[in-house]
Amino acid sequence: MSDVWEVAGLKAAPGSFVQGMVDLPGVSSRIPLFLLNGRADGPMTVILGGVHGCEYTSIDAAIQLVDRFKQLEALGRVAIVPVVSMDAYSARSLYVHPTDRKNLNRICPGNEHGTETERLAFQLFQTFLRPCDILIDLHGGDMCESLVPHIYWYQTPDPVLNEKARRFAQYFGIPYIYRSRALGSVYQSAAGAGNISVLAEAGQHGILYPALATMLVDGCLNALRSVGVLPGTPFEPSGQVDIEKSWWPESDQFGAWYPAVKAGDRVQAGQKMGEIRDLFGNPLKEYFAEGAGVVLMCMTSLAINPGETLFAIGC
Ligand SMILES: [Zn+2]
Repeated sequence: MSDVWEVAGLKAAPGSFVQGMVDLPGVSSRIPLFLLNGRADGPMTVILGGVHGCEYTSIDAAIQLVDRFKQLEALGRVAIVPVVSMDAYSARSLYVHPTDRKNLNRICPGNEHGTETERLAFQLFQTFLRPCDILIDLHGGDMCESLVPHIYWYQTPDPVLNEKARRFAQYFGIPYIYRSRALGSVYQSAAGAGNISVLAEAGQHGILYPALATMLVDGCLNALRSVGVLPGTPFEPSGQVDIEKSWWPESDQFGAWYPAVKAGDRVQAGQKMGEIRDLFGNPLKEYFAEGAGVVLMCMTSLAINPGETLFAIGC
């Protein structure tokens, strides 16, 4: 490969890396960007952290990956953005942008002339998601969630791409592998553009868990070995569970949420999952499991609003 690689004004010569804060057109905050331009032709890999600005374990993993890639010989080109949603990161804003209150992971591929988050989604899509061959979107359970590590791959109409994406997800070694069709997500936008695309989740409660950050870092590197972006033989993980079906019930009350389960619990259909009480302690509504499975995530915030996800069960 002989070409200089330029992204958002940052230029990496062949066989070199570069990093800096860059502007995206129409986006108010600069984002951190690391580029590694490999010596040989190969796929373009994009690794994102901080699409949700308070998922610190995954942001730390992305920061660690910048350091790791400085030491690695990669095939093709690798871009890492440790924090995509800089405004949400600095404001410690859960899930959403602090001004327009939109969730970047629900509105991709965005709108060039829309609100702040829509413009960010548009630029993210144009700059990274459409041109890449492999997308790894790192998440880590927001401040109000307990969560067991799991990894999503997006099911497209293309069975060949689907098998590649599922295999790639498997190489992360994360216990639960989730087939998803969630529209508007960052990884769905990349998958829809014909790319291998996964979203890995590890961490919870806005706390940095070093062992889980290591799980994400090692998983990324192993998965990239499996497709030849990195040299070496990948480790073959085993014992993982494919999640084929799931339930994500939402609150229809305002009040105080008292979960009866925690992430990682196995539950039976009909089992009580928790209840919402008013702020005088009177029960408002109980919530029950629609099906049997593992609790992938559970809201742990006492404060609850209508329309918020209470928990997720997968099987
Ligand atoms: Zn997230």
